[in-house]
Amino acid sequence: MTKTIGFVKEQKKGESRVAIVPETAQKIIDLGWQVLMEPDAGESAGFPNTTYPEMTQIAKRRSEVLNGADVVVGVHALDAADLTELRDDAVVIGMVSPYADQQRFVQAANQGVTVFSMELIPRTTRAQAMDVLSSQASVAGYKAVLLAASEAPRFFPMLTTAAGTIRPASVLVIGAGVAGLQAMATAKRLGANVTGYDVRPETVEQIKSLGAKFLDLGVEAVGEGGYARALTDEEKQLQQDNLKKHLSSVDVLITTAAVPGRPAPRIITADMVKEMKAGSVIVDLGAEGGGNCEPTEAGVTKMVGGVKVIGPENLSATVPLHASEMYSRNVWNLLSLMNQDGEFVLNWEDDILAGCVVTKDKAVVHPAVKDAVSNTSGEQS
Ligand code: NAD
Repeated sequence: MTKTIGFVKEQKKGESRVAIVPETAQKIIDLGWQVLMEPDAGESAGFPNTTYPEMTQIAKRRSEVLNGADVVVGVHALDAADLTELRDDAVVIGMVSPYADQQRFVQAANQGVTVFSMELIPRTTRAQAMDVLSSQASVAGYKAVLLAASEAPRFFPMLTTAAGTIRPASVLVIGAGVAGLQAMATAKRLGANVTGYDVRPETVEQIKSLGAKFLDLGVEAVGEGGYARALTDEEKQLQQDNLKKHLSSVDVLITTAAVPGRPAPRIITADMVKEMKAGSVIVDLGAEGGGNCEPTEAGVTKMVGGVKVIGPENLSATVPLHASEMYSRNVWNLLSLMNQDGEFVLNWEDDILAGCVVTKDKAVVHPAVKDAVSNTSGEQS
């Protein structure tokens, strides 16, 4: 049976991405499925209605998409207000923030809605092309450097001019995951002297391969699945003591450190910020998770002594065209797993589908979300 894949305009403040770009709409139509969109859903990402394939159906209003589509795809899907408008057998796909506002999942399950969380897609080799954590982190890492460069009172590259020689900016990036490596590569391209630091030893080669220097602070902390683990108090102290010595030579600090399932590790104390030169800039990508730097506040830029501390929120949304294209390709690759010769089939034997489904068969099924639901409300049926 022909499936209708719908997408709506994002409602979250500051969100300018769209879940389905014209390229993806065409691929869905080529499968023999239908695409139904809210008018102007792609406008803020640089995709006006006219850029979508002719066969795309443009609804008159949002609710028409929500109750007309079999599958609703979003960037931040599963708005509590939208839920009641969905069909009882609807499938929802998006970055649904599985650990926030758990009541939405109970409500979705009670309604019979099947919800897939793009954030919960297993980070296996096979699932790489669907990995939104990587695609969006890569955008954020790039933009963090541009933000730092435009806020810094100095050039990034070395310049030799008639008015004298300008020395290159010294940029330190803490955390060499997807965002951090992209930040290092971008700062290098702008001509800065770049140093990177991480607690996972395999990042040494990755940092060096970008032409950056590795900062050895004498702390290694490898956890499960190739991720970092939280540091012990002694390790934290050693890291801070050694880092403190280095900070006075840094013009720009970009922090991207994260440990899965935990608040952002606190690496830079307020006292350490005071060690930095006046005119330095910090961009803290951990801001939304509580901050890698003590003074960081999400969504706020402030001066701490002579240092500008920036805590950006939802940075990937500030590069909406490419962030949407990348997100939409991630979504398309997941949708492709649901296509069997043109039929829409949810194959629960597939470890990717089984791994990122949050609600199905009228129940919250993802173990982590299920735990969180029962801890917060005890209302899970
Ligand atoms: P992340 O956002 O969870 O963390 C960012 C970085 O912070 C990590 O490199 C981590 O080691 C570092 N970090 C944590 N605590 C720190 C501390 N106290 N001090 C300094 N650095 C600290 O990471 P990510 O970008 O999502 O990915 C990192 C890992 O995931 C890597 O092992 C990567 O190879 C793996 N990965 C796998 C896939 C896949 O196979 N699909 C895709 C992307 C990433």
